[in-house]
Amino acid sequence: MSDTIKTDVLIVGAGPIGLFAVFELGLLDIKAHLVDILDKVGGQCAELYPEKPIYDIPGIPFITGHGLSDALMRQIKPFGPTFHLGEMVTTLEKIGDPLFRVATDRGKVFETKSVVIAAGGGSFQPKRPPINGIEPYENTSVFYAVRKMDAFRDKRLLIVGGGDSALDWTLNLQPIAKRLTLVHRRDEFRGAPDSVNKMRALVAAGDMDLKIGQVSGLEGGDGQLSACSVKGNEVDTMLPFFGLTMKLGPVADWGLKMEDELIPVDTAAFETSMRGLFAIGDINTYPGKLKLILSGFHEAALMAQKAHRYVYPDKKLVFQYTTSSTNLQKKLGVA
Ligand SMILES: Cc1cc2nc3c(=O)[nH]c(=O)nc-3n(C[C@H](O)[C@H](O)[C@H](O)COP(=O)(O)OP(=O)(O)OC[C@H]3O[C@@H](n4cnc5c(N)ncnc54)[C@H](O)[C@@H]3O)c2cc1C
Repeated sequence: MSDTIKTDVLIVGAGPIGLFAVFELGLLDIKAHLVDILDKVGGQCAELYPEKPIYDIPGIPFITGHGLSDALMRQIKPFGPTFHLGEMVTTLEKIGDPLFRVATDRGKVFETKSVVIAAGGGSFQPKRPPINGIEPYENTSVFYAVRKMDAFRDKRLLIVGGGDSALDWTLNLQPIAKRLTLVHRRDEFRGAPDSVNKMRALVAAGDMDLKIGQVSGLEGGDGQLSACSVKGNEVDTMLPFFGLTMKLGPVADWGLKMEDELIPVDTAAFETSMRGLFAIGDINTYPGKLKLILSGFHEAALMAQKAHRYVYPDKKLVFQYTTSSTNLQKKLGVA
């Protein structure tokens, strides 16, 4: 297990609300680390509707999900947040008043004065393909994510799916795999046309195989795959990309009072029943709650004011505007 990482605030979730929380905390000199299961920031905006337009962000008549994530990243850059992507927060323990110990599934441990749960609809988890007997192979020769490309070097790889993830990983892994086969149920792909063209060019050049059909069975033993029921296919590693689904996940085990899988909070600071533990964005509930990005932004601003008391118990907080405060402008790097 790694050394404990000490921070002012740990944010669970790097969706739009977790990202904006970095900004509001940063203005108050509060440093943040963020953890997200996804390998990218932006939460639902980045994962579920990157190309779709959002029309109700105040002052921005039109922006795509991807565009909003990018803009938020630019806005929080001056505050240098530390991201831990591709990791799930699994445990949260109260060890002081307030002080928390938080751990991830990859063995990182944080000690933090406050925790902000910005976990949205919960953790994004891969959809399991409908293949009988797939479970014994999972995490030994069937993987739902690529954490280290090199783990797939010189393997006979089978990638299953027709979306961007399947195509992107086909293009990235083809050069290092012993042989790569892409399987999709029909000869039409949902992924970006440019990726589809590149994949077809590799097939035409004989550098990879494309099979139209479905994987219905697996062969092997002791978790090691040797073949699958796509005709004539010897395979030792399979990567199914069937999209992601949202599940509440470990948040439910952190000893918090929950209502319909949501965390009740007060509306003065969006704090939970535990001092120093906040919940903002889609994961919280209170009378009149609207699951909108703009509501989460407001919640982040109020949360930061209260978190300041825990991080700097002896400092008085003076309210300031970014338009007129040279102090804030210096922090933003514009004065
Ligand atoms: C199709 C669609 C269209 C939408 N259109 C609009 C719109 O036009 N306007 C609008 O205001 N809203 C819209 N929304 C809603 C908006 O996307 C959400 O309100 C917003 O994403 C909530 O942000 P969030 O940061 O709270 O949560 P999310 O965006 O859900 O992000 C939460 C993040 O937390 C991570 N996470 C969860 N649990 C853990 C854990 N244990 N460890 C590590 N990471 C964890 C997740 O992986 C995720 O990345 C739309 C939603 C959808 C699905």
